[in-house]
Amino acid sequence: MAQSALDVLSISPSALSAEETHLIESSVAQFGAPLLLLDCDSVRHQYRALQNALPNVTLHFALKPLPHPAVVRTLLAEGASFDLATTGEVELVAGEGVPADKTIHTHPIKRDADIRAALEYGCCVFVVDNLNELEKFIAYRDEVELLVRLSFRNADVFADLSKKFGCSPDHAIEIITRAKELGIRIKGLSFHVGSQTLNPQKYVDAILACKEVMERVVELGLPALSTLDIGGGFPVNYTKAVMPIDEFCVPINQALNTLPETVQVLAEPGRFIVAGCMTSVASVMGQADREGQTWYYLDDGLYGSFSGIIFDHGEYPLYTTKHAVETFSSVLAGPTCDSIDVIAENIMLPKLENGDLIIGRMMGAYTSATATDFNFFKRAQTVVMNEEEVMASRKMG
Ligand SMILES: *Cc1c(COP(=O)(O)O)cnc(C)c1O
Repeated sequence: MAQSALDVLSISPSALSAEETHLIESSVAQFGAPLLLLDCDSVRHQYRALQNALPNVTLHFALKPLPHPAVVRTLLAEGASFDLATTGEVELVAGEGVPADKTIHTHPIKRDADIRAALEYGCCVFVVDNLNELEKFIAYRDEVELLVRLSFRNADVFADLSKKFGCSPDHAIEIITRAKELGIRIKGLSFHVGSQTLNPQKYVDAILACKEVMERVVELGLPALSTLDIGGGFPVNYTKAVMPIDEFCVPINQALNTLPETVQVLAEPGRFIVAGCMTSVASVMGQADREGQTWYYLDDGLYGSFSGIIFDHGEYPLYTTKHAVETFSSVLAGPTCDSIDVIAENIMLPKLENGDLIIGRMMGAYTSATATDFNFFKRAQTVVMNEEEVMASRKMG
């Protein structure tokens, strides 16, 4: 890692409360390391915060960033809906008893078997962004309603999802026209402005562009569209503060208020709901002094819970449970024999002993979901906490 973006990471020894340190240490004593502590209270809190910020929007949690049964159960109890993209995700929510009418299937490209699996479960809202995909639904036209996904390019987000999926407004009109000829119902439009979008204006622009398409649909005498799905992308604080969600959603609500009252609005938040709910706990396996720095080799790394550093450009706040006045320039490396498996370089750390713990926060989204067992280092176990809201027991062991 020549010029690593992770060089900016620092460790705050003081930022863990005594209660948190106790919880982490007792969890490791009970389950071993590495661990991911999944706090369902955080999931609830984030869901309520976003629902409060977008009061007239039906929130479909996108499973992709953290497809964990406890998250599904927690959100189901909150009254959430769900956004599915694969047959595996269909099986997960079906297994947890999610009613199918609370789900939509939003992968723009599907195999016939994926469509059938979703339909067998009872999910009948799908997304298309091209004519080839539209024609896959001729066989199911009496059962399905479709959203047409538009693309709005967004260069400054973690993942520009409009590069891979979505069509232009003109092409959307072509798809909607063809759907009418084929007898396939088009329910509305969708978009995804990109994950961890920092500027709400991206949503505003997309909503207004969709509004124009909806107006053209009416002018052309096509059946009026009843739904707008504003996707995911809502931002969270990693190492830099983002706009608070209430403030972020003010211009979005204003834009939504310009739509006809009959239009039902959905969103597909993923990261915002789960990024903060997981805390990673890795322990030092060994250490070596190399070129003036101490290298600490952890039992979790880039091929495990920290895979988001590669796949998601993640920068996670890191902590140690060790308190010390003196700190030294250090490297945190993962356990595998691969040289790219380095979590952070040039970070200031107290002198650690083997067995000491490194804590990562904001490790809920796109972390364990993309972890591997490379080199036979098993991915971190997940420990679920506070699944029952009333109990709210924080005692682990
Ligand atoms: C990944 C994804 C989401 C979730 O996006 P976040 O940025 O995590 O909120 C929502 N919808 C679709 C179609 C996705 O692919």
